[in-house]
Amino acid sequence: MHNEDPNAVFTGLLLHWHENNPRPMPWKETLDPYRIWISEVILQQTRVHQGWDYYLAFIKKFPDNKTLAQSSLADVLKAWEGLGYYTRARNLHKAAKKIEDELGGKFPQLYKQILSLPGIGPYTAAAVASFAFNLPNAVVDGNVIRVLSRYFGLDGNGDVGILKKEISEKADKLIQLSPSSAFNQAIMNFGALQCIPHKPDCTKCQMNKACFAFNHMRTNDLPPKKKKILRKNRFFIYCLIHHKKGIFIEQRTNRDIWQHLYQLPCFETDENWSTDNLPVFLKEKMSKVSLSEKIFHQTLTHQNIFARIIVLHTDEPLETKTDTLRYSEPNNLHKFAFPKLVLNILQQQAII
Ligand code: SF4
Repeated sequence: MHNEDPNAVFTGLLLHWHENNPRPMPWKETLDPYRIWISEVILQQTRVHQGWDYYLAFIKKFPDNKTLAQSSLADVLKAWEGLGYYTRARNLHKAAKKIEDELGGKFPQLYKQILSLPGIGPYTAAAVASFAFNLPNAVVDGNVIRVLSRYFGLDGNGDVGILKKEISEKADKLIQLSPSSAFNQAIMNFGALQCIPHKPDCTKCQMNKACFAFNHMRTNDLPPKKKKILRKNRFFIYCLIHHKKGIFIEQRTNRDIWQHLYQLPCFETDENWSTDNLPVFLKEKMSKVSLSEKIFHQTLTHQNIFARIIVLHTDEPLETKTDTLRYSEPNNLHKFAFPKLVLNILQQQAII
Protein backbone atom coordinates (compact mmCIF):
# COMPACT_ATOMS: atom_id res chain seq x y z
CA MET A 1 0.00 0.00 0.00
CA HIS A 2 3.02 2.31 0.30
CA ASN A 3 3.54 2.12 -3.42
CA GLU A 4 2.09 5.22 -5.08
CA ASP A 5 1.52 3.65 -8.46
CA PRO A 6 -2.22 2.83 -8.59
CA ASN A 7 -1.61 -0.14 -10.89
CA ALA A 8 0.96 -1.62 -8.51
CA VAL A 9 -1.33 -0.98 -5.53
CA PHE A 10 -4.13 -2.82 -7.32
CA THR A 11 -2.04 -5.87 -8.28
CA GLY A 12 -0.47 -6.02 -4.80
CA LEU A 13 -3.88 -6.05 -3.13
CA LEU A 14 -5.30 -8.49 -5.66
CA LEU A 15 -2.51 -11.05 -5.25
CA HIS A 16 -2.71 -10.72 -1.49
CA TRP A 17 -6.46 -11.41 -1.64
CA HIS A 18 -5.78 -14.38 -3.92
CA GLU A 19 -3.33 -15.95 -1.49
CA ASN A 20 -5.93 -15.73 1.27
CA ASN A 21 -8.79 -16.99 -0.86
CA PRO A 22 -7.71 -20.15 -2.66
CA ARG A 23 -10.31 -21.68 -4.93
CA PRO A 24 -9.57 -25.35 -5.59
CA MET A 25 -10.53 -26.67 -9.02
CA PRO A 26 -9.48 -29.96 -10.58
CA TRP A 27 -7.87 -28.29 -13.60
CA LYS A 28 -5.81 -25.80 -11.62
CA GLU A 29 -3.19 -28.36 -10.70
CA THR A 30 -2.10 -28.87 -14.28
CA LEU A 31 0.11 -27.10 -16.80
CA ASP A 32 -1.21 -29.27 -19.61
CA PRO A 33 -2.50 -26.84 -22.26
CA TYR A 34 -5.00 -29.42 -23.54
CA ARG A 35 -6.69 -29.77 -20.15
CA ILE A 36 -6.62 -26.03 -19.53
CA TRP A 37 -8.19 -25.42 -22.92
CA ILE A 38 -10.98 -27.94 -22.29
CA SER A 39 -11.68 -26.51 -18.83
CA GLU A 40 -11.86 -22.93 -20.10
CA VAL A 41 -14.27 -23.82 -22.90
CA ILE A 42 -16.49 -25.77 -20.49
CA LEU A 43 -16.42 -22.90 -18.01
CA GLN A 44 -17.72 -20.54 -20.67
CA GLN A 45 -20.84 -22.67 -20.76
CA THR A 46 -21.56 -23.21 -17.14
CA ARG A 47 -20.87 -22.35 -13.53
CA VAL A 48 -17.78 -23.80 -11.87
CA HIS A 49 -19.77 -26.21 -9.73
CA GLN A 50 -21.54 -27.83 -12.71
CA GLY A 51 -18.53 -27.51 -14.98
CA TRP A 52 -16.43 -29.58 -12.60
CA ASP A 53 -18.40 -32.77 -13.31
CA TYR A 54 -18.48 -32.13 -17.05
CA TYR A 55 -14.76 -31.50 -17.09
CA LEU A 56 -13.94 -34.72 -15.20
CA ALA A 57 -16.22 -36.77 -17.45
CA PHE A 58 -14.84 -35.15 -20.61
CA ILE A 59 -11.21 -35.69 -19.61
CA LYS A 60 -11.95 -39.27 -18.65
CA LYS A 61 -13.38 -39.92 -22.10
CA PHE A 62 -10.87 -37.80 -24.04
CA PRO A 63 -7.75 -37.68 -21.83
CA ASP A 64 -5.55 -36.04 -24.45
CA ASN A 65 -5.67 -34.19 -27.72
CA LYS A 66 -4.94 -37.28 -29.79
CA THR A 67 -7.90 -39.19 -28.33
CA LEU A 68 -10.20 -36.23 -28.94
CA ALA A 69 -8.98 -35.84 -32.54
CA GLN A 70 -9.48 -39.54 -33.28
CA SER A 71 -12.98 -39.69 -31.77
CA SER A 72 -16.10 -39.25 -33.85
CA LEU A 73 -17.94 -35.93 -33.78
CA ALA A 74 -21.02 -37.83 -32.57
CA ASP A 75 -19.09 -39.00 -29.47
CA VAL A 76 -17.88 -35.48 -28.75
CA LEU A 77 -21.38 -34.04 -29.09
CA LYS A 78 -22.71 -36.78 -26.83
CA ALA A 79 -20.15 -35.85 -24.14
CA TRP A 80 -21.21 -32.22 -24.56
CA GLU A 81 -24.91 -32.98 -24.24
CA GLY A 82 -26.63 -30.56 -21.86
CA LEU A 83 -23.89 -27.93 -21.98
CA GLY A 84 -25.42 -26.05 -24.92
CA TYR A 85 -23.55 -23.99 -27.53
CA TYR A 86 -22.73 -27.11 -29.53
CA THR A 87 -20.63 -25.10 -31.99
CA ARG A 88 -18.01 -25.02 -29.25
CA ALA A 89 -17.92 -28.82 -29.10
CA ARG A 90 -17.63 -29.01 -32.89
CA ASN A 91 -14.78 -26.50 -32.77
CA LEU A 92 -12.98 -28.43 -30.02
CA HIS A 93 -13.05 -31.46 -32.27
CA LYS A 94 -11.90 -29.45 -35.29
CA ALA A 95 -9.06 -27.82 -33.36
CA ALA A 96 -7.90 -31.16 -31.93
CA LYS A 97 -7.73 -32.53 -35.47
CA LYS A 98 -5.79 -29.51 -36.65
CA ILE A 99 -3.25 -29.95 -33.85
CA GLU A 100 -2.80 -33.61 -34.78
CA ASP A 101 -2.82 -33.23 -38.56
CA GLU A 102 -1.02 -29.92 -39.07
CA LEU A 103 1.01 -29.27 -35.92
CA GLY A 104 2.46 -32.72 -35.36
CA GLY A 105 0.27 -33.32 -32.30
CA LYS A 106 1.97 -30.54 -30.32
CA PHE A 107 -0.22 -27.91 -28.69
CA PRO A 108 0.95 -24.46 -29.90
CA GLN A 109 2.85 -22.45 -27.31
CA LEU A 110 2.47 -18.88 -28.54
CA TYR A 111 -0.60 -16.69 -28.03
CA LYS A 112 -1.10 -15.95 -31.73
CA GLN A 113 -0.77 -19.63 -32.68
CA ILE A 114 -3.25 -20.63 -29.99
CA LEU A 115 -5.62 -17.90 -31.18
CA SER A 116 -5.51 -19.29 -34.71
CA LEU A 117 -7.08 -22.61 -33.66
CA PRO A 118 -10.76 -23.08 -34.61
CA GLY A 119 -13.14 -21.68 -32.00
CA ILE A 120 -10.44 -20.16 -29.79
CA GLY A 121 -11.01 -16.46 -29.13
CA PRO A 122 -8.84 -13.93 -27.26
CA TYR A 123 -10.18 -15.00 -23.85
CA THR A 124 -9.41 -18.70 -24.20
CA ALA A 125 -6.09 -18.03 -25.94
CA ALA A 126 -5.00 -15.74 -23.09
CA ALA A 127 -6.13 -18.27 -20.47
CA VAL A 128 -4.17 -21.12 -22.08
CA ALA A 129 -1.13 -18.92 -22.82
CA SER A 130 -0.93 -17.67 -19.23
CA PHE A 131 -1.93 -20.79 -17.28
CA ALA A 132 0.08 -23.29 -19.34
CA PHE A 133 3.02 -21.17 -20.50
CA ASN A 134 2.97 -18.17 -18.11
CA LEU A 135 2.82 -15.75 -21.04
CA PRO A 136 1.76 -12.16 -20.22
CA ASN A 137 -1.63 -12.28 -21.95
CA ALA A 138 -4.45 -10.90 -19.83
CA VAL A 139 -7.86 -12.54 -19.90
CA VAL A 140 -10.81 -10.22 -20.33
CA ASP A 141 -14.21 -11.64 -19.46
CA GLY A 142 -17.26 -10.32 -17.59
CA ASN A 143 -15.54 -10.71 -14.22
CA VAL A 144 -12.45 -8.80 -15.30
CA ILE A 145 -14.48 -6.04 -16.93
CA ARG A 146 -16.55 -5.60 -13.77
CA VAL A 147 -13.57 -5.52 -11.39
CA LEU A 148 -11.47 -3.08 -13.42
CA SER A 149 -14.39 -0.88 -14.40
CA ARG A 150 -15.38 -0.43 -10.77
CA TYR A 151 -11.93 -0.18 -9.23
CA PHE A 152 -10.47 2.25 -11.79
CA GLY A 153 -13.76 3.99 -12.66
CA LEU A 154 -13.62 3.01 -16.35
CA ASP A 155 -16.93 3.29 -18.18
CA GLY A 156 -16.09 3.63 -21.88
CA ASN A 157 -18.41 6.67 -21.90
CA GLY A 158 -21.29 4.24 -21.70
CA ASP A 159 -20.19 2.37 -24.84
CA VAL A 160 -19.60 -1.31 -24.07
CA GLY A 161 -17.24 -1.73 -27.06
CA ILE A 162 -15.04 1.18 -25.97
CA LEU A 163 -15.12 -0.06 -22.39
CA LYS A 164 -13.86 -3.47 -23.44
CA LYS A 165 -10.93 -1.83 -25.23
CA GLU A 166 -10.12 0.32 -22.19
CA ILE A 167 -10.25 -2.73 -19.94
CA SER A 168 -8.01 -4.77 -22.27
CA GLU A 169 -5.40 -2.02 -22.31
CA LYS A 170 -5.55 -1.69 -18.53
CA ALA A 171 -5.32 -5.46 -17.98
CA ASP A 172 -2.35 -5.69 -20.38
CA LYS A 173 -0.50 -3.12 -18.24
CA LEU A 174 -1.44 -4.73 -14.94
CA ILE A 175 -0.37 -8.22 -15.94
CA GLN A 176 3.19 -6.99 -16.53
CA LEU A 177 3.48 -6.35 -12.79
CA SER A 178 3.06 -9.92 -11.57
CA PRO A 179 3.30 -13.58 -12.64
CA SER A 180 0.68 -13.75 -15.38
CA SER A 181 -0.88 -17.04 -14.38
CA ALA A 182 -1.44 -15.82 -10.80
CA PHE A 183 -2.77 -12.44 -11.99
CA ASN A 184 -5.33 -13.93 -14.37
CA GLN A 185 -6.49 -16.49 -11.84
CA ALA A 186 -6.69 -13.90 -9.08
CA ILE A 187 -8.75 -11.36 -11.00
CA MET A 188 -11.18 -13.98 -12.30
CA ASN A 189 -11.70 -15.37 -8.80
CA PHE A 190 -11.96 -11.91 -7.27
CA GLY A 191 -14.73 -11.05 -9.73
CA ALA A 192 -16.50 -14.34 -9.11
CA LEU A 193 -16.29 -14.31 -5.32
CA GLN A 194 -15.85 -10.75 -4.03
CA CYS A 195 -16.65 -8.13 -6.64
CA ILE A 196 -19.84 -9.92 -7.69
CA PRO A 197 -22.40 -8.39 -10.08
CA HIS A 198 -25.12 -7.58 -7.53
CA LYS A 199 -24.59 -6.08 -4.10
CA PRO A 200 -20.91 -6.89 -3.49
CA ASP A 201 -19.98 -6.57 0.15
CA CYS A 202 -17.75 -3.54 -0.38
CA THR A 203 -17.38 -2.73 3.30
CA LYS A 204 -15.46 -5.98 3.75
CA CYS A 205 -13.42 -5.63 0.55
CA GLN A 206 -9.66 -5.20 0.91
CA MET A 207 -9.69 -3.02 -2.20
CA ASN A 208 -12.22 -0.47 -0.98
CA LYS A 209 -9.80 2.30 0.05
CA ALA A 210 -8.75 2.98 -3.50
CA CYS A 211 -11.83 1.64 -5.30
CA PHE A 212 -13.41 4.32 -7.48
CA ALA A 213 -16.90 2.80 -7.48
CA PHE A 214 -17.00 2.36 -3.73
CA ASN A 215 -15.75 5.87 -3.03
CA HIS A 216 -18.12 7.48 -5.54
CA MET A 217 -21.11 5.26 -4.71
CA ARG A 218 -21.17 3.95 -8.28
CA THR A 219 -20.95 0.23 -7.62
CA ASN A 220 -24.43 -0.36 -9.04
CA ASP A 221 -23.88 1.47 -12.31
CA LEU A 222 -20.36 0.25 -13.14
CA PRO A 223 -19.74 -1.34 -15.52
CA PRO A 224 -22.43 0.19 -17.80
CA LYS A 225 -25.09 -2.35 -18.68
CA LYS A 226 -25.21 -4.08 -22.04
CA LYS A 227 -28.30 -3.49 -24.12
CA LYS A 228 -30.86 -6.21 -23.56
CA ILE A 229 -30.73 -8.92 -26.19
CA LEU A 230 -33.91 -9.16 -28.21
CA ARG A 231 -34.70 -12.81 -28.66
CA LYS A 232 -36.57 -14.22 -31.59
CA ASN A 233 -39.45 -16.56 -30.67
CA ARG A 234 -39.66 -19.86 -32.56
CA PHE A 235 -42.34 -22.52 -32.33
CA PHE A 236 -41.63 -26.21 -32.90
CA ILE A 237 -43.98 -29.16 -33.09
CA TYR A 238 -42.18 -32.38 -32.21
CA CYS A 239 -43.69 -35.71 -33.19
CA LEU A 240 -43.15 -38.49 -30.72
CA ILE A 241 -43.86 -41.49 -32.93
CA HIS A 242 -43.93 -44.87 -31.22
CA HIS A 243 -43.41 -47.67 -33.70
CA LYS A 244 -42.77 -51.35 -33.23
CA LYS A 245 -39.21 -50.70 -34.43
CA GLY A 246 -38.70 -47.96 -31.84
CA ILE A 247 -38.96 -44.19 -31.58
CA PHE A 248 -38.44 -42.01 -34.63
CA ILE A 249 -35.55 -39.60 -34.35
CA GLU A 250 -33.87 -37.35 -36.86
CA GLN A 251 -30.60 -35.49 -37.08
CA ARG A 252 -30.60 -31.73 -37.54
CA THR A 253 -28.46 -31.01 -40.55
CA ASN A 254 -29.32 -27.41 -41.51
CA ARG A 255 -27.09 -24.51 -40.58
CA ASP A 256 -29.25 -23.60 -37.66
CA ILE A 257 -29.31 -24.13 -33.91
CA TRP A 258 -28.31 -27.60 -32.69
CA GLN A 259 -26.67 -28.65 -35.97
CA HIS A 260 -25.76 -32.39 -35.97
CA LEU A 261 -27.79 -33.07 -32.83
CA TYR A 262 -30.74 -35.45 -32.81
CA GLN A 263 -34.36 -34.63 -32.09
CA LEU A 264 -37.85 -35.98 -32.60
CA PRO A 265 -39.16 -35.22 -36.10
CA CYS A 266 -39.79 -31.50 -35.93
CA PHE A 267 -41.96 -29.03 -37.81
CA GLU A 268 -41.56 -25.33 -37.30
CA THR A 269 -44.77 -23.34 -37.05
CA ASP A 270 -46.01 -19.92 -35.94
CA GLU A 271 -47.26 -18.51 -32.65
CA ASN A 272 -50.76 -19.79 -33.44
CA TRP A 273 -49.44 -23.36 -33.53
CA SER A 274 -50.84 -23.86 -37.00
CA THR A 275 -50.64 -27.47 -38.17
CA ASP A 276 -51.11 -26.58 -41.84
CA ASN A 277 -47.56 -27.50 -42.76
CA LEU A 278 -47.54 -30.89 -41.14
CA PRO A 279 -47.07 -33.81 -43.56
CA VAL A 280 -50.26 -35.37 -44.87
CA PHE A 281 -50.00 -38.60 -42.91
CA LEU A 282 -49.79 -36.62 -39.67
CA LYS A 283 -52.69 -34.37 -40.59
CA GLU A 284 -54.78 -37.46 -41.23
CA LYS A 285 -53.96 -38.66 -37.76
CA MET A 286 -54.71 -35.28 -36.22
CA SER A 287 -58.37 -36.25 -35.94
CA LYS A 288 -57.32 -38.77 -33.30
CA VAL A 289 -54.38 -37.04 -31.68
CA SER A 290 -53.73 -33.47 -30.68
CA LEU A 291 -51.00 -31.10 -29.68
CA SER A 292 -49.90 -31.37 -26.08
CA GLU A 293 -51.31 -28.83 -23.67
CA LYS A 294 -47.89 -28.53 -22.17
CA ILE A 295 -45.53 -26.10 -23.84
CA PHE A 296 -41.86 -26.91 -23.41
CA HIS A 297 -39.43 -24.03 -23.47
CA GLN A 298 -35.72 -23.38 -23.80
CA THR A 299 -34.01 -20.00 -23.86
CA LEU A 300 -30.95 -19.68 -26.09
CA THR A 301 -28.77 -16.60 -26.44
CA HIS A 302 -30.72 -15.16 -29.35
CA GLN A 303 -33.82 -17.30 -29.49
CA ASN A 304 -36.70 -18.48 -27.34
CA ILE A 305 -37.77 -21.94 -28.40
CA PHE A 306 -41.30 -23.07 -27.57
CA ALA A 307 -42.36 -26.62 -28.33
CA ARG A 308 -45.46 -28.75 -28.15
CA ILE A 309 -45.64 -32.41 -28.99
CA ILE A 310 -47.86 -34.84 -30.82
CA VAL A 311 -47.75 -38.41 -29.54
CA LEU A 312 -48.56 -41.12 -32.06
CA HIS A 313 -48.59 -44.89 -32.03
CA THR A 314 -48.39 -46.50 -35.42
CA ASP A 315 -47.03 -49.60 -37.07
CA GLU A 316 -47.52 -48.37 -40.59
CA PRO A 317 -44.36 -48.06 -42.64
CA LEU A 318 -43.54 -44.38 -42.54
CA GLU A 319 -42.10 -42.37 -45.34
CA THR A 320 -38.78 -40.87 -44.39
CA LYS A 321 -38.12 -37.37 -45.70
CA THR A 322 -34.35 -37.77 -45.64
CA ASP A 323 -31.76 -40.35 -44.74
CA THR A 324 -31.23 -38.51 -41.45
CA LEU A 325 -34.45 -40.02 -40.10
CA ARG A 326 -34.19 -43.33 -38.24
CA TYR A 327 -35.75 -45.53 -35.59
CA SER A 328 -34.13 -46.05 -32.23
CA GLU A 329 -35.05 -48.47 -29.48
CA PRO A 330 -35.80 -46.41 -26.36
CA ASN A 331 -32.92 -48.07 -24.52
CA ASN A 332 -30.54 -47.00 -27.29
CA LEU A 333 -31.51 -43.34 -27.19
CA HIS A 334 -28.70 -42.60 -24.73
CA LYS A 335 -26.24 -43.10 -27.61
CA PHE A 336 -27.48 -39.96 -29.38
CA ALA A 337 -26.89 -36.33 -28.40
CA PHE A 338 -30.10 -34.33 -27.99
CA PRO A 339 -30.68 -30.66 -27.17
CA LYS A 340 -31.85 -30.06 -23.61
CA LEU A 341 -35.36 -29.28 -24.81
CA VAL A 342 -35.74 -32.68 -26.46
CA LEU A 343 -34.22 -34.45 -23.46
CA ASN A 344 -36.86 -32.75 -21.29
CA ILE A 345 -39.60 -34.01 -23.57
CA LEU A 346 -38.23 -37.56 -23.55
CA GLN A 347 -37.94 -37.46 -19.76
CA GLN A 348 -41.39 -36.00 -19.29
CA GLN A 349 -42.80 -38.77 -21.49
CA ALA A 350 -40.86 -41.35 -19.44
CA ILE A 351 -39.01 -42.53 -22.55
CA ILE A 352 -35.57 -42.11 -20.99
S1 SF4 B 1 -14.93 -2.18 -3.04
FE1 SF4 B 1 -16.70 -3.16 -3.93
S2 SF4 B 1 -16.76 -2.46 -6.04
FE2 SF4 B 1 -14.72 -2.01 -5.22
S3 SF4 B 1 -13.49 -3.77 -5.83
FE3 SF4 B 1 -14.27 -4.15 -3.76
S4 SF4 B 1 -16.17 -5.32 -4.08
FE4 SF4 B 1 -15.64 -4.38 -6.03
